[in-house]
Amino acid sequence: MKSSQSIKPHRPASESRHGGADADAPSELARETLRQLALRKEPPTPDNYRELYFQIRGTADEDIFPARALRAIAAALPRVTPAELRSVQAFDAAIASGQWPELHRVIADLHSHRASDGKAWDTLIRDLILQFERLHAELTQARKREALNHVLEARPSADILHERLSSLVRSWSQYSGAPPASGDAEALNGAAAGTPETPGATIAPETPLRPLLARLLTNGVAPLAGNDEPLSNEARALSATLLGGGSEQTEIASRLEQLITRMEWVGEERNAVREALLSLLRLIVDNIRELVIDDNWLHGQLTIIAETFAGPLSLRMLDDVGQQLREVINKQGHLKRGLAEAQDHLKEMLVGFIDRLSEVTVSTGDYHDLLGRSARRIGEATNIADLSEVVGELLAGTRQAQESTLRAGQELSELRERVDNANHEIARLQNELDAASRLVRHDPLTGVLNRKGLDEALTREISRVHRKGTPLSVALIDIDNFKKFNDVYGHTTGDEALCHLTRTVTETLRPQDVVARYGGEEFIILLPDTSPEAANTILMRLQRELTRRIFCAPDSERLLITFSAGIAQLSPSEQPEDTIARADEAMYAAKRAGKNRVLVAV
Ligand code: GH3
Ligand code: MG
Ligand code: MG
Repeated sequence: MKSSQSIKPHRPASESRHGGADADAPSELARETLRQLALRKEPPTPDNYRELYFQIRGTADEDIFPARALRAIAAALPRVTPAELRSVQAFDAAIASGQWPELHRVIADLHSHRASDGKAWDTLIRDLILQFERLHAELTQARKREALNHVLEARPSADILHERLSSLVRSWSQYSGAPPASGDAEALNGAAAGTPETPGATIAPETPLRPLLARLLTNGVAPLAGNDEPLSNEARALSATLLGGGSEQTEIASRLEQLITRMEWVGEERNAVREALLSLLRLIVDNIRELVIDDNWLHGQLTIIAETFAGPLSLRMLDDVGQQLREVINKQGHLKRGLAEAQDHLKEMLVGFIDRLSEVTVSTGDYHDLLGRSARRIGEATNIADLSEVVGELLAGTRQAQESTLRAGQELSELRERVDNANHEIARLQNELDAASRLVRHDPLTGVLNRKGLDEALTREISRVHRKGTPLSVALIDIDNFKKFNDVYGHTTGDEALCHLTRTVTETLRPQDVVARYGGEEFIILLPDTSPEAANTILMRLQRELTRRIFCAPDSERLLITFSAGIAQLSPSEQPEDTIARADEAMYAAKRAGKNRVLVAV
């Protein structure tokens, strides 16, 4: 359409009313525009239509507010940084107002934020500070500082610097803020992760260390410091500082370092004290053991304690020993009370017996005096009347002495019966005490577990097998030709040989392996977490060890002790007795095969 062509502006609305129709109405204007285009034989392109439309309307087309087009522009604008968001929001508001002056103002305002190089540095710096100081749940200030340094150290041009800093602000602003209740100002974590400014880098989630460190200080370090009050106070104070979030990281690090050094001293001292106490205890226990060599019962208890403190301590071990000792002490206390009562009873009776005896002696002494006196009076008697008086006294005295002796005899036989009963009771209690000793889980001769101890250990190990699914090997060992050994060297040397064997076994095997006396010269070994093949190797090592540590009899004769053994793995579905029976069969097979060998059950 040729702009030179003139057209009469459309009539004002007030002049153009025909039959109520408004000529200024957009539909009327559109119709008129299309009619004029047809009259002029011009193609109805959007540009031709638009130009003619505004000529007919009598207004310039710039006066129309292009809200839709502006909204499309606004939608395409970035809204990531707070500054961008603010600008676009102002732009949106200006579009919504439909007012050109407002739109001009917003655009002018936006422009004024740009420096001469076209970059809004003031906004960027404000946003940068804002985001740097903001608390983020997963982003520490240390990490932010590191990223910033990284950008600055590269010394980029102003344009690139602006771009990188903007991208930094954009990436920081995408992190969520720290939850206000957590109170942790920042996590003291320097772990490397994807840098936030690197596009596409993944950010590993960080654990806020401050509260964890604070808990460690309050609940771990402070109680560990024990009596060292300044140290526990410092641990608590540092914990409070960490939670308060106020102090510089460097200050906290230096205080932590000092605390660690002091804790190391405390630890060293504790270990030294513990070692000293343990060796003191060992000394005491060993000494008492030597003193009470005849008391099987007490000996058994002391052996448990001595064994416990000989190896590395574990809580489970102490717990087991504590339980055993409590049981034993309880039983012992009960029996000892009974024994003490019986002894008191016996003492009372003995006192009564002595009293009676002295009474009898006194009364027989009186009778002797009477006899002496009577004999003198008979010699001096001059008449029958005197004699009859003497005889009367004699008869009365004799009767009294007889009665007294009879009574004393009766009482004494009663006393004797009661003493016998008390002795019997003491013997019974002593036997019971010895029986209690057998109830203790350890064999008094060798110090290894007895059958009861083995039963308990088996229950414990079987439950481990079920819980963890690890193999448990059961080995049964039997000394070769031990009867002959006893016959030749005597039973006492035989006893010592048994002790030598168990000592070698316990010292050769691992602390978690269990050794128990199963019968006279038969022992069971439980090997947790061990396959039968591994158990076979272990037992062969034990055989070698027995050859190396040869047994020296009291007369210094060097005697070789050998054993035959059978191994079976405990199957989770079988009873422990059946496993032992299979190991026993294998052991007998080893005997039949020539002794001094180890066989695994099939
Ligand atoms: P094998 O090689 O076939 O096992 O022959 P063995 O002589 O060892 O077997 P047997 O079972 O016939 O003999 C075991 C002997 O162990 C009998 C017994 O005198 C002895 N014995 C059992 N308990 C003790 C003990 O506590 N002390 C001592 N000294 N000997 C014991
Ligand atoms: Mg045997
Ligand atoms: Mg034997």
